[in-house]
Amino acid sequence: MSAWEVVIGLEIHSQLATKSKIFSGASTAYGAEPNTQACLVDLGYPGVLPVLNEEVVHMATMFGLAVNASVAQRSVFARKNYFYPDLPKGYQISQFELPIVEHGELFITDADGNEKRIGITRAHLEEDAGKSIHEGLGKSSGIDLNRTGTPLLEIVSEPDIRSAKEAVAYMRKIHTIVRYLGISDGNMQEGSFRCDANISVRPEGQEEFGTRAEIKNLNSFRFVEKAINYEIERQIELIEDGGEVVQETRLYDSDKDETRSMRSKEEANDYRYFPDPDLLPVEISADYIEAVRAELPELPDAKQHRFVDEYGVKNDDAAILTISRPVADYFEAAAKATQANAQTVANWVVGDLSGALNKDGLDIGESKVSAGELAGLLTRVHDHTISGKIAKQVFEAMWAGEGSADDVIEAKGLKQITDSSAIEAVVDKVIAANPGQVAEYKAGKEKLIGFFVGQVMKETQGQANPGQVNQILKTKLSG
Ligand code: ADP
Ligand code: MG
Repeated sequence: MSAWEVVIGLEIHSQLATKSKIFSGASTAYGAEPNTQACLVDLGYPGVLPVLNEEVVHMATMFGLAVNASVAQRSVFARKNYFYPDLPKGYQISQFELPIVEHGELFITDADGNEKRIGITRAHLEEDAGKSIHEGLGKSSGIDLNRTGTPLLEIVSEPDIRSAKEAVAYMRKIHTIVRYLGISDGNMQEGSFRCDANISVRPEGQEEFGTRAEIKNLNSFRFVEKAINYEIERQIELIEDGGEVVQETRLYDSDKDETRSMRSKEEANDYRYFPDPDLLPVEISADYIEAVRAELPELPDAKQHRFVDEYGVKNDDAAILTISRPVADYFEAAAKATQANAQTVANWVVGDLSGALNKDGLDIGESKVSAGELAGLLTRVHDHTISGKIAKQVFEAMWAGEGSADDVIEAKGLKQITDSSAIEAVVDKVIAANPGQVAEYKAGKEKLIGFFVGQVMKETQGQANPGQVNQILKTKLSG
């Protein structure tokens, strides 16, 4: 049995967060009653004309610059002709030969932990189609045209991806970038961010690509990974059993965790693309592009490197902290407001804070402990008012709404005991109560020190300063 190499290219559809549609003034808001947000242009009435929404050009330009691509000073809208009930015009306005963005790239971390470049072939602007509705309509189907004309940026990767995990890493990176730029809400449940995955396999070492199958409309990172892995196995099994992969479009059924054929290449459409005569070419100047470049926010990779350089945060933590701008902003605000070390802040944001948010199903913007409040708590650990362990207890109380760290420490009397005579008294008590262990310790079983520390901490409800406890114990036990 030969070894197989997997080849994957993704086509990601990212809905652009404009208020109105790409060629009409109708609203793009999600969730309205069916067919209440489609105007005559979206419905494809004769005699109406599309007018380009300038904002989508701005957004596509931002994206192009963010992925180090070239932004075309001239791009052209084309008609992609096909019939479908949710497409009343009989064509979709897209870009074909001259897209607005070409030759970009981004970097992911591969399975070996190395940085890997994935090429972005192009990103073009297009309008979304409507939706067919089958549920709750008996034997009939309904058509909802609210989504018709919603702006999409279709981002096409080079076939540089080599595993399902890399595909997910790439898609997450695009997801992070579009949200940093504020050009898409990235809401996958609502279909604002979805992808088609093109997959083929070839014997390792073979230059030529194998025949690919395309899995349509994957709208969760988990489904992308599962669908691709299923498809890889299907293709390898098929070839090893003497069969051939046919070029076709497949659908992923998440209930059965399998992909099924939708249509083969023979049935595939010939779209008869041609430039849309109703729309002028989009011409933008070099100055315009430079002006957009100047207003780009700090991007995830740059922020990640800065968190490592400026704050000394571990690279893996910096990667997690920069997945979204609100998380990065929270971390940075807390790190600036505390005397504690920034890595400690990172540990808390990635650990306890994320845990509490997940448990309550909250976004960081809804956190019950603000960045300033977390900073206050960590300052109290830093200045030895409380131990790291007690800090967890204080955090829980803060999360439950019992006030600031200082309020909770005061109200519950959690201040660390640093008075050596008070600690000595407890140490004496513990030594007197455990003569057997004392004898063993003196006979050379030094790791019993942990037992004594534990007893003292128990006696003081965890409030004795651990460093002092250790030191006093050692002195007394060797005396
Ligand atoms: P189409 O227009 O038919 O969708 P494209 O040539 O534009 O085809 O490619 C679409 C996607 O398929 C791109 O992301 C590309 O990288 C990927 N792709 C092309 N050939 C292969 C292949 N043999 N195996 C896997 N992916 C491929
Ligand atoms: Mg395709």
